[in-house]
Amino acid sequence: MNCPFCEREMEFGYIQNRDGVYWMRSKRAISTIMPPKRDREVVSLNDGKVSYFAGGSAEAWLCRKCKKVVVDYAPKPVPDEDE
Ligand SMILES: [Zn+2]
Repeated sequence: MNCPFCEREMEFGYIQNRDGVYWMRSKRAISTIMPPKRDREVVSLNDGKVSYFAGGSAEAWLCRKCKKVVVDYAPKPVPDEDE
């Protein structure tokens, strides 16, 4: 993906958090954050998937020059267990 600001190639990676990755309009205490199904102002950036060992992660593209991160929060296909 190219940076929408400077148009250089971006680096692919992940944003991780222990209990899911969410966007919301205003900051709030972590203990008050409910999953999007219960709180319509919360948007899950990783489809609400959280694993005990890996936490929640969202795919993200980074531009070090512009200091920007782009996140695609569309649901991703579930990888096959055998792969
Ligand atoms: Zn850039």
